[in-house]
Amino acid sequence: MLTNKTALVTGSTSGIGLAIARIFAANGANVVINGFGEADAIEKERSGIESEFGVTCHHSGADMTKPDEIAAMMADAEKAFGGVDILVNNAGIQHVSPVEDFPVAKWDAIIAINLSSAFHTTRAAVPGMKKKGWGRIINTASAHALVASPFKSAYVAAKHGIAGFTKTIALEVAQSGVTVNAICPGYVWTPLVEAQIPDTMKARGMTEDEVKRDVLLAAQPTKEFVTVDQVAALALYLAGDQASAITGAMLQMDGGWVAQ
Ligand code: NAD
Repeated sequence: MLTNKTALVTGSTSGIGLAIARIFAANGANVVINGFGEADAIEKERSGIESEFGVTCHHSGADMTKPDEIAAMMADAEKAFGGVDILVNNAGIQHVSPVEDFPVAKWDAIIAINLSSAFHTTRAAVPGMKKKGWGRIINTASAHALVASPFKSAYVAAKHGIAGFTKTIALEVAQSGVTVNAICPGYVWTPLVEAQIPDTMKARGMTEDEVKRDVLLAAQPTKEFVTVDQVAALALYLAGDQASAITGAMLQMDGGWVAQ
């Protein structure tokens, strides 16, 4: 389905981004993965994608807070693959704090990684997509692109920002064969979420099931986590030709969260 296409997924050494990179590779795309982690583990993942799916996979360690590193990553992809056909802006971090105590450096990092990096990648990718008359930009937003929660001011601001950015670029490229959409997941079961459970069990004197249902999934009516594979399947659909009429959309995958 994606043979002869190149997908670049920011923040794809773990969690949702890795699942998206893997499903694109499984469908024949060459992929550029990006993100931090232990060098051996990243190399194992990169070479594993190549051998499992018979595609070429590069890793870029570009820091999404650094515009010059992002530019270099995009230029490397251009040189190696002749451009990026499918761009997934997925890298993201979180910090939870009342606004009066919110560390300035955390605010700046969240806005840079969760919002501004998408501007830097998109501005580099769009000319090539327009030239080819085909492209897909998929932004991993969040339910927090549509509704707020207290103590997550930077994250909610960045995710609402990415919603506006998605719609704006969708309009700019609407007649170029390029679609721009955002996936808005609720709580997704990733290592990041899993790691919070033991501490919360201890702090609140709860069982694992109680923590999942009453704390983590308090806002999610299904009381089920979204899985990374479900998010990846939606990204794959958006990358396909069947989805060419979907653009500027905020696609919720949140177990009913924002319906409330
Ligand atoms: P994760 O922590 O598993 O993965 C984050 C990835 O981003 C990692 O590969 C990490 O190395 C990379 N990264 C972090 N800082 C970076 C930087 N400065 N430069 C480059 N890469 C960097 O997280 P995840 O849960 O898979 O989240 C991925 C995206 O999905 C984020 O944008 C997040 O906001 C969004 N999201 C997650 C959930 C959830 O419940 N997990 C829900 C909604 C939206």
